[in-house]
Amino acid sequence: MGEKITAYRFDRLDQTLSQLNKEDCAIMAGGTDVMVLHKSRRGVPPKILKPLIFIDHLYELKRVYQNQKDLHIGACCTYSELLEDPFIPFALKDAIKTIAAPAIRNRGTLGGNICNASPAGDTLPLLYVYNAKLLLRSVTGDRIVTISDFIQGPRRVGRNQNEILAEIILPSIFEEGAYVVFEKVGNRNADAIAKVSFAGYIRINGEVIDDVRFAFGAVGPTMVRSIDIEKKLLGKTIPLADADIAQVVADFDKIIKPIDDQRSTALYRKTVALNLLRYFLSRKQYQPN
Ligand SMILES: Cc1cc2nc3c(=O)[nH]c(=O)nc-3n(C[C@H](O)[C@H](O)[C@H](O)COP(=O)(O)OP(=O)(O)OC[C@H]3O[C@@H](n4cnc5c(N)ncnc54)[C@H](O)[C@@H]3O)c2cc1C
Repeated sequence: MGEKITAYRFDRLDQTLSQLNKEDCAIMAGGTDVMVLHKSRRGVPPKILKPLIFIDHLYELKRVYQNQKDLHIGACCTYSELLEDPFIPFALKDAIKTIAAPAIRNRGTLGGNICNASPAGDTLPLLYVYNAKLLLRSVTGDRIVTISDFIQGPRRVGRNQNEILAEIILPSIFEEGAYVVFEKVGNRNADAIAKVSFAGYIRINGEVIDDVRFAFGAVGPTMVRSIDIEKKLLGKTIPLADADIAQVVADFDKIIKPIDDQRSTALYRKTVALNLLRYFLSRKQYQPN
């Protein structure tokens, strides 16, 4: 017979935070990563060593709203809910549509994808290029961190035991007029974990690049982004000269260091990542989306 586990499901966020402040618990949102992580043999219940605390139902974690120029997304919004929401940018919806299959999208949450911190998490490259900020809430108050500071390595995040990721903030998204794209390469178009993923963001003023950002997934322990390389393209005109494109590709060639694993080889990952970048930079036009 399976061992008993303690599980909490409070009606309100403040009660949940208060319990987390008293006791080290395993947070469960949609559970689509938690259950896989703790799975046992067939027919044997998962072995979860800490008390579980459910947060998927909490209203405070499920709101999507505009605050001045910023978009706030509740961490426990499921992918299916986000696909229906008119505030969610098209590029993020494109990424969500590539995640798993509908059953998982009905349970899996944006906050779970971030806190699971998989190198292949499909929303992460986009959240990096949107310069996403994360609002962490505890009994002592709120703090805001950038996503690149929060995610520290595979399955490693800078969350204190008493904190919950409450909101994902996409700053200035309502004023930007940027062209943003997400590309994922896997074994098939849906229900596949990424071998490589790429997010590109570009804002043009006339024909001049005002802002440009890139992030690569599944080619390192965390998303690969380089503000120093991005800066080299600011002020250049569109379409970019071949030499400029070659320089940026060569710069990323030096810092993208993928590994071989069951899903792909390092060589394939590097080649595809650089091809996706080259393709993005070779466009003649970038219409805001
Ligand atoms: C069959 C299958 C296919 C999948 N396919 C994909 C795919 O194509 N692409 C992809 O990116 N992922 C995929 N996943 C992984 C998973 O569905 C996503 O990462 C999902 O976003 C996790 O969300 P969740 O709510 O289920 O997280 P949970 O499993 O509930 O939690 C994940 C981790 O985050 C922590 N956590 C969750 N929410 C919070 C919060 N608000 N505050 C603090 N900590 C929190 C939990 O404690 C846990 O450590 C797949 C999973 C399965 C089972």
